[in-house]
Amino acid sequence: MTLHRKTAADARPSVGRDCDAWCSRCNMALEHTIIAMVGLEIVRVKCNTCNSEHKYKSTREVAETVAKVAKAKSVAASNARPRSAVSAPPPSNASRLLWTRSMGDRDRAKALPYTPALVASPGSLIDHKQFGYGIVDVVIDGKSRVLFEDGYKVLVTGR
Ligand SMILES: [Zn+2]
Repeated sequence: MTLHRKTAADARPSVGRDCDAWCSRCNMALEHTIIAMVGLEIVRVKCNTCNSEHKYKSTREVAETVAKVAKAKSVAASNARPRSAVSAPPPSNASRLLWTRSMGDRDRAKALPYTPALVASPGSLIDHKQFGYGIVDVVIDGKSRVLFEDGYKVLVTGR
């Protein structure tokens, strides 16, 4: 009457099982389905998110690569490594966050529809046909710098 429901073999990876792996297409650690193994080594996986098949890359391996690349970059900027999985997030992320924060409690119904004749002042909330809602940051010489979700744009104002 020995019941071993959870044996070591159950926890072992095998073809058809899910495992955590790095997906270079999704550019993040995700659940993958194991599609090929050599002995106890996972060699090929399929991303459960984007369905792409690729060589297995453990998340730990990637973390080490990222650390190595960061180190190499700080040591020698001349390294002509292509920008890839480990590049910095696009700069728009920072301005998007700022935009989200600035928009916070603003009443969008009160946004001023944008036209080049619009008289804007810093802090004005405007509604641009193409860029959406934006908050005027600086006004200089008939031009306004406006923070939109996609980042800063310079618009003609007060014409
Ligand atoms: Zn993927």
